[in-house]
Amino acid sequence: MAGTVHVIGAGLAGLAAAVRLTGRGASVAVHEAAGQAGGRCRSYHDPALDMEIDNGNHLLLSANHAALSYLAVIGAQDRLVGPAGAEFAFVDLADGERWTLRINSGRLPWWIFDRRRRVPGTTARDHLTFARLIWPPADRTICEVVDCAGPLYERLARPLFLAALNTEPKEGSAVLAGAVIRESLAAGGKACRPLIAREGLGRALIEPALRFLGERDAQVQFGRRLRAIEFADDSVAALDFGDDKVALGAGDVVVLAVPPVVAADIVPELEVPTEFRAIVNGHFRVDPPAGLAPIIGVVNGTVEWLFAFPGRLSVTISAGDRLLDVPRESLANALWKEVAIVAGLPDALPPWQIVRERRATFAATPAQNAKRPGAATAWSNLFLAGDWTDTKLPATIEGAIRSGNRAADLAGRV
Ligand SMILES: Cc1cc2nc3c(=O)[nH]c(=O)nc-3n(C[C@H](O)[C@H](O)[C@H](O)COP(=O)(O)OP(=O)(O)OC[C@H]3O[C@@H](n4cnc5c(N)ncnc54)[C@H](O)[C@@H]3O)c2cc1C
Repeated sequence: MAGTVHVIGAGLAGLAAAVRLTGRGASVAVHEAAGQAGGRCRSYHDPALDMEIDNGNHLLLSANHAALSYLAVIGAQDRLVGPAGAEFAFVDLADGERWTLRINSGRLPWWIFDRRRRVPGTTARDHLTFARLIWPPADRTICEVVDCAGPLYERLARPLFLAALNTEPKEGSAVLAGAVIRESLAAGGKACRPLIAREGLGRALIEPALRFLGERDAQVQFGRRLRAIEFADDSVAALDFGDDKVALGAGDVVVLAVPPVVAADIVPELEVPTEFRAIVNGHFRVDPPAGLAPIIGVVNGTVEWLFAFPGRLSVTISAGDRLLDVPRESLANALWKEVAIVAGLPDALPPWQIVRERRATFAATPAQNAKRPGAATAWSNLFLAGDWTDTKLPATIEGAIRSGNRAADLAGRV
């Protein structure tokens, strides 16, 4: 490949592709429609809170090897932080019970035999029944493979799958849940350490990548929306940005790393996921009390996860489509009531912001999962990337980065 690789979209998939190709000495041009990079994983200054926040709280696990390698390459490996072990604090708002799940580091899951480490009210046998999900039959939902009832489901399995798939387990793909389990719980606690970008997603995952690209003369242009692709026989001939057109020469390659609806609009006869699920985040400007765990799972509430950042508490609700039309003020009040209980803070509502991402991820159902295309296309110099392509993982940072790496590897072979 002697030409230029045009990467369309500077979300994590596009950035990962650009970083890998630039690192190998390729000539790279990134074209991003928005005024900033990061896509669904971005930081910005919020005027209501007068502080920098993320569009959504993002949790990674130590199992996310592609994300960790990407961070190492861009020199940001210290920007994700987490406890030394796989520890998850939980509270059940129905009865006020609190516990900490402690997954032992090795592959042999002796934590499930230890009452002080596993979920209260459950047995080791309950945990073992979930082993059926490790290699589940295709085309099934999670709840068709395991019994979605009882304390282990309510207090661990549902929160885990809802967060990982952004889809209710009763409709969520068992195959995608299986991939998550194989890479995390089944691999032992060393793969399950929770990691968060304490100083913001932008500082961890985006700005260092832009710096890496800039230092190596990759071009990154913002406000540059791809409108159409011109095809000639079996290859891309030109990229149409509306006000200008880029003709492609021999050896030029395109990595299309845009959301699925955009890709389907631009690439003829491309089948893509068509259903999406929302994620709702509430941010509250308040100092987290000393000793509050950095991440707390909340059971039997509207809030599902509470994250503590410097000067801010923040909550996440996955598959939050039912909350899209709730008035912002009443939602903020309802969420804060729960946060105040979990964190032991006064009832008075602090400055707040509600961020609702309608199309946060594709719906991780068996039917939608079957619509995900691979990276290669019918055109020899066009490759697809994005968390919605067939990564075998749910829509996650790890999936987005793996998809970008895969597209870069294919682009490098043209
Ligand atoms: C609120 C929220 C919470 C999340 N929580 C987690 C989490 O806890 N853990 C986790 O691993 N993942 C989480 N995710 C998922 C994660 O953010 C995504 O999987 C990942 O960011 C997707 O990256 P991407 O590059 O595939 O897509 P995108 O980020 O959507 O990137 C696509 C890019 O293409 C650009 N674009 C669109 N059209 C054009 C065009 N015509 N021309 C040029 N550019 C264009 C867009 O502006 C965008 O920058 C969460 C997502 C959200 C929204």
